[in-house]
Amino acid sequence: MKPFIYDYTYDELREWAVAQGEPAFRGGQIFDWLYVKRVNSFEEMTNLSKPLRQKLDEQFAFVTLNEITKFESKDGTVKFLFGLHDDHAIETVIMKHNYGNSICVTTQVGCKVGCTFCASTLGGLKRNLSAGEIVAQVVQAQKILDDRGERVSSIVIMGTGEPFENYDATMNFLRIMIHDKGLNIGQRHITVSTSGIVPNIYRFADEDTQINLAISIHAPNDALRSKLMPVNRRFPFDDVMEALRYYIAKTGRRITFEYALIGGVNDQPEHAEELASVIKDMLCHVNLIPVNHVPERKYVRTSRNDIFQFQRILADKGINVTIRREQGHDIAAACGQLRAKHMESGAR
Ligand code: SF4
Repeated sequence: MKPFIYDYTYDELREWAVAQGEPAFRGGQIFDWLYVKRVNSFEEMTNLSKPLRQKLDEQFAFVTLNEITKFESKDGTVKFLFGLHDDHAIETVIMKHNYGNSICVTTQVGCKVGCTFCASTLGGLKRNLSAGEIVAQVVQAQKILDDRGERVSSIVIMGTGEPFENYDATMNFLRIMIHDKGLNIGQRHITVSTSGIVPNIYRFADEDTQINLAISIHAPNDALRSKLMPVNRRFPFDDVMEALRYYIAKTGRRITFEYALIGGVNDQPEHAEELASVIKDMLCHVNLIPVNHVPERKYVRTSRNDIFQFQRILADKGINVTIRREQGHDIAAACGQLRAKHMESGAR
């Protein structure tokens, strides 16, 4: 199978052009056709010679995302289930905010991390997405927004999959997204979320980017986190905290702790107290997420009062904390729920 043209960064396309005996700027022209003019075929790249367009066609393919289904929420959230060339299905979400449009992308087909509150992991990991397959989700979303005269203003890598288990593809995806000759998404408007793959937190700290890092922490200690997130047995709580402290010291950037509140499990006042004591000296922000009901699991939602109590305890200890505004609740916008339903029907 031919590689996807979206897999290639700006610099790699310039190198490819030179390898074909062309000036490097031809690579920049290809990048422009892909991300500024957003064409669907090499044939449309009319400022390239016909032989060069033929070479592109012989060597590369476009990613095709076939829309299997789409759900639109009353709040403007649109969730897509896209079919890939090998019939796997992935989810991509466009969220409408008052400050712009945010895209939530998927980095893997399924996930092996096994967080117990997540529908994405139920069928395990099928395969990694290539950088181009992640890029295609944003390009597709941008094409939809083009019709409304709007643009993708921010990206969250919080869809299905663990981006730090698909690190190189994720980094190439990010390089393509932030390039000023392409979609030019501001680095500070991109957030990558990990469950705590420690070696790659260190790598990411050393990448010298301004992209935001979020950590799915979901528990204030090692024992409870291991129950909720099996990944914690591979990368224990204290090691994750040490890596995050390194990241903060190295980058000077604030991290976000994602904390999914699960009724009666991790949402009690003592959990909030313990969390506050662990992170009080860290440059951080806590985002509380009331869990969506996952029918396959027996978790219940935290009551509104308990959510606010948890928030108050953290705030009183000087922790910066917010409650995530839920979007697309009426269309199963939480990670993996749409795909899980699709798989129930026997699909991949
Ligand atoms: S929450 Fe993310 S990391 Fe955890 S199982 Fe789901 S997709 Fe994987």
